[in-house]
Amino acid sequence: MRYINNKLRIENVGLDKIAKNYGTPSYVYSYSQLKKNIIDFEKNFKSFSPLICFAIKSNTNVNLIKEIKKFGLGADVVSAGELMMALKAGINPKKIVFSGVGKTSKEIAYAIEKKILLINAESHSEINEIERIAKIKKKKVNIGIRLNPNTDAKTLSQISTGKKENKFGVNGKTFVELVKFCKKSNNIVLKCLSVHIGSQILDHKPYEKMLNILSKILNKIKYNFEYIDLGGGMGISYNNSDNKLNFEKYNIAIKKFLKKHQSKIIFEPGRSIIGNTGILLTKVVYIKNSERKNFIVLDSAMNDLIRPALYGAKHKILPFLKKRKNSNKIYEFVGPICETTDKFSTLKKFQELKEKDLIAICDVGAYGMSLSSNYNVRPKAIELLIKGTKIRVIRKRQNLKDLM
Ligand SMILES: *Cc1c(COP(=O)(O)O)cnc(C)c1O
Repeated sequence: MRYINNKLRIENVGLDKIAKNYGTPSYVYSYSQLKKNIIDFEKNFKSFSPLICFAIKSNTNVNLIKEIKKFGLGADVVSAGELMMALKAGINPKKIVFSGVGKTSKEIAYAIEKKILLINAESHSEINEIERIAKIKKKKVNIGIRLNPNTDAKTLSQISTGKKENKFGVNGKTFVELVKFCKKSNNIVLKCLSVHIGSQILDHKPYEKMLNILSKILNKIKYNFEYIDLGGGMGISYNNSDNKLNFEKYNIAIKKFLKKHQSKIIFEPGRSIIGNTGILLTKVVYIKNSERKNFIVLDSAMNDLIRPALYGAKHKILPFLKKRKNSNKIYEFVGPICETTDKFSTLKKFQELKEKDLIAICDVGAYGMSLSSNYNVRPKAIELLIKGTKIRVIRKRQNLKDLM
């Protein structure tokens, strides 16, 4: 994204043109940014060529997943719906891993039928259930076991998953017991140790710590895992102050780990692939002045983008037209929904805004549209993919009739 003649563009398309032709609010993605992210990710870990399974939950648009698939990526899914979506996008089942603490019998049966690479189990009960279904189907099923390494990812508490108080994975002791259990099973083939310690991780140290813990456990149990699935969680920069994760240091730590434990590495990145590829283009409906601040009432709301309301997440906001002076008022960007948490940001010294102005809420490619809802019977936004000068509708705007 850049300003040309003070007007904001995504690739070679002005945001005014998008608003005029497709309306607002709109999710708008950049193909070239997506391509760059994937190529950079692969480059970072080139020396051990990992299997990269895109975390579908971060963005479930089938057309985006199709683009991602063209680069050879697999998928990490957490429900039958996501598995079906990944298959619909043409992803090879042998590149799909299934995570999650609550897979139902139906979901397990579906995953077995589709012959996916791994079901990453998260409890003894789940392994029993996989075995029961595999027996009925007379199949051998490849599984992973998710370890909870009790590592603080140093990220927002709402998106931390690798501490012992979190519901995810099993502790070291249970892990050892489950490995023994799987060895005796005729229908389960234990192929993978998986972990995922959280999301939006900006510091490489929690990853180093996690690898040390894995190393210790592996030394203890002496079992050869074909795969080590390190999950996702690589953080991106949402504003100019936080740095993104240092991939080089993470890469060094993994290479050190691999010297002692030879397995194929799997990653499950979501945010680091798709997060900075998308904006939410939205229009100022009203400006409501109060004594202390001005409310900038937008035509998008928490139903379109819930991250600020759910996690207190901060997304950069940019004006489409950059030529007025900065306002001395405090601006609070809010949606029209009847919830006090329906606000995106409170900013000082933003440039002066007028009603009907366009603005861009940035870095919403991950957990933006995929977490959207129809709250207040609001139709979901259109999704558009920009490639050079071309605009492609990759998901139609819902209309009210769809919702009745
Ligand atoms: C959410 C999730 C991911 C993706 O996390 P990102 O922070 O988007 O990279 C990967 N693996 C599992 C098991 C997850 O739950």
